[in-house]
Amino acid sequence: MRYATPNNFTGRAVYAEARAFLQRPAAEALVRANRSLRRKGYGLAVFDGYRPWSVTKIFWDITPADKKQFVADPSKGSRHNRGCAVDLTLYDLKTGRQVSMPGEYDEMSERSHINYAGGTPEQRRLRDLLRSAMEAEGFNVYQEEWWHYDYKDWRLYPILNLSFSEIGRLKAKAAGATHTK
Ligand SMILES: [Zn+2]
Repeated sequence: MRYATPNNFTGRAVYAEARAFLQRPAAEALVRANRSLRRKGYGLAVFDGYRPWSVTKIFWDITPADKKQFVADPSKGSRHNRGCAVDLTLYDLKTGRQVSMPGEYDEMSERSHINYAGGTPEQRRLRDLLRSAMEAEGFNVYQEEWWHYDYKDWRLYPILNLSFSEIGRLKAKAAGATHTK
């Protein structure tokens, strides 16, 4: 969860908590993708999931005009705001370390493009392995960012601006409601 640390393109922590949320069908699809990758020796390392709208606005405001294709326009909202997008990479189950991809996470260059032909054959193989595992479970890659995947049903969910702690409270309330029935 890079945005809970200063190790992200903004240079500061924009999340108070290192937690990742997705809408339940997207989260369950992600679990299935992780399971299929485990058989090949890899796991999924998640950088970001649901993102409150206010954070999308921060990203837009600090990104220079010539790089704005790498961030979502807050007037339209991001699929992250709907809890239907995830940023992630692979890690090697044997070493526990993230693999080397053709470019870095959040790198604003052509190396981020899913069809970038540079890097090593092994880096491209891993990028494409991640893609095939995600596509098999209903995620679509964003062409400009090898790490960003949208869940197919994102249109069904609203743009949200709840903080992570507010989501925790809603979950507690829902559990209480079930209990009283
Ligand atoms: Zn993303």
